[in-house]
Amino acid sequence: EAGLYIVAGPIGNLGDLTPRAAEVLRLADVIAVEDTRVSARLLRHAGSDRPMVPYHDHSAEGVRARLIERMTSESVALLSDAGTPLISDPGYKLVRDARAAGRKITTLPGPSAAIAALTLSGLPTDRFLFMGFLPSKQKARGDVLGEVAALRATLVFYESGPRLSESLAAMAEHLGNREAAVSREISKTFEETATGTLTELSARYADAPPKGEIVVIVGPPGEAPPASAEDADAALLEAMERLP
Ligand code: SAM
Repeated sequence: EAGLYIVAGPIGNLGDLTPRAAEVLRLADVIAVEDTRVSARLLRHAGSDRPMVPYHDHSAEGVRARLIERMTSESVALLSDAGTPLISDPGYKLVRDARAAGRKITTLPGPSAAIAALTLSGLPTDRFLFMGFLPSKQKARGDVLGEVAALRATLVFYESGPRLSESLAAMAEHLGNREAAVSREISKTFEETATGTLTELSARYADAPPKGEIVVIVGPPGEAPPASAEDADAALLEAMERLP
């Protein structure tokens, strides 16, 4: 059926491509992708021989207009290099304009690193804010963190290895030294999640920037890190001294 199909792909493990997503990739008239080389591998895995066109939200206006036009009579699939399109990936403007033009739009839901990391973190999941990638410039990064410092919500950041330690330190500075979790290579061979306070995690990665793709989850404010045994003993002794 003609229209736009938003197709979530795997975030590392090809086995996470859903059967429904694979079917759409096999049947679509055209597949809009970020990087044809990256998507070619997934299409092979899905048994798809459908043509690809590169698409970015900053592609020339004409590219988007042509895709929207094609959706009147053809099925157009939108696929990202990894995970769910539009989540720190292209697609927002395509969906916006397809909607404005009254095209049929449907989604094939699947993995997203943000949600996967959130579920691994052990931090509150009842209220969270997706922050995407932090700006790399110090001032802009501090401003962004300052804007959300007072929110009672768990925060979700995408990161890269080389910047990780510095970003964690900046988070500690602007958000306070909260509990956090660093997940990398989710669904891949070297999947790993490390937890601790932001300063602990920053120190841990200072000399050994981790390889691969990373999500940082930061707990809400006010949930003081669990006191160490010594702290608890000291507090208890102090309280006992104050007893009559
Ligand atoms: N659209 C994707 C999604 O739904 O997760 C995100 C695309 S964004 C350009 C890429 C970032 O997602 C990486 O830098 C990393 O922060 C995160 N990411 C993607 N795959 C991951 C994985 N397997 N493990 C951890 N983080 C991952």
